Amino acid sequence: MCSLFYLKYSKTIIILILINPKLKIDHVHLKVSDLEKSLQFYQSILGFKIVRQKSKTAFLSSSASFETNSSLFLIALTEVNNDLKPQRRQRVAGLYHFAILLPERRYLSYFLKQIQKNLNPEYYEGMADHAVSESIYIHDPDFNGIEVYNDRDPAEWKWKDHIVHMVTEPLNVQDLLKESTAVDNEWNELPTKTSIGHVHLHVSNLDKAKKFYQEILDLNHTATFPGAYFFAANRYHHHIATNTWLGENISSPKNDTNKLGLDHYAINLHNEKDLLLLKNRFLEFKINIDEEQLTENDNQFSSSFYVYDFDGIKIQFFV
Ligand SMILES: [Zn+2]
Repeated sequence: MCSLFYLKYSKTIIILILINPKLKIDHVHLKVSDLEKSLQFYQSILGFKIVRQKSKTAFLSSSASFETNSSLFLIALTEVNNDLKPQRRQRVAGLYHFAILLPERRYLSYFLKQIQKNLNPEYYEGMADHAVSESIYIHDPDFNGIEVYNDRDPAEWKWKDHIVHMVTEPLNVQDLLKESTAVDNEWNELPTKTSIGHVHLHVSNLDKAKKFYQEILDLNHTATFPGAYFFAANRYHHHIATNTWLGENISSPKNDTNKLGLDHYAINLHNEKDLLLLKNRFLEFKINIDEEQLTENDNQFSSSFYVYDFDGIKIQFFV
């Protein structure tokens, strides 16, 4: 995340850009068709706990009294119009998957055993070794994509200037399972240091995505795959990925707010000064700031606003 400081020395304007090393995705807010069914899934398969529930919205985290790094929850689920039937890959900009980052490799091993035993195979998507991380992909009852992953030691990531080496190769399952050979190595709950490591979005155009995420948000463009750009703050492999794998002719989620899928994802800026600087940054680029429609659910943050990226994907910034 950028903090911009304009320092004026006579007629020279020096622009100093500081990437906020603390930037991370705080939480994702999803729209689901059947809250009870989703809660059952997120608790029994992923080990989430319900932090709070208010009418048709539930807030989930790794423990019922979760609060680390000022996160109050990791996932919010809101039930929308029950007549909607979950659909795979709606032709709308939005979530490809959100990614649950586990704090240690052994937990990924426990999770693999957990899904082998308990996951309905219809919800299974795949596994991959990305060099920087190891990942397991599933989806929830509404086809919201979920990646569960563990980062390799950043000291092992290979950088060439600002580009990080990432691949998609088969996961070495045998080797991963060695982490959980003891009988009591079980997946009981989500480890407390779990976080949302990144979000991966369907967008309509990579250049537009790059303008928003690199030029305006000041993230680093860390990798390019066919049809996909990856962006990160600091030296992370990616906090946000964007792809055009659904094609460029997809609609904006703003056109149908009742649609299942991503409502918004949220970024915690940690201090008011950075939030204000970012707000000015958006105004400078003539990007609408939405402070009016903050829901009751979001009022727990001391300061907060929404913006929409160029595909109408809603992002919340808060302190
Ligand atoms: Zn991912």
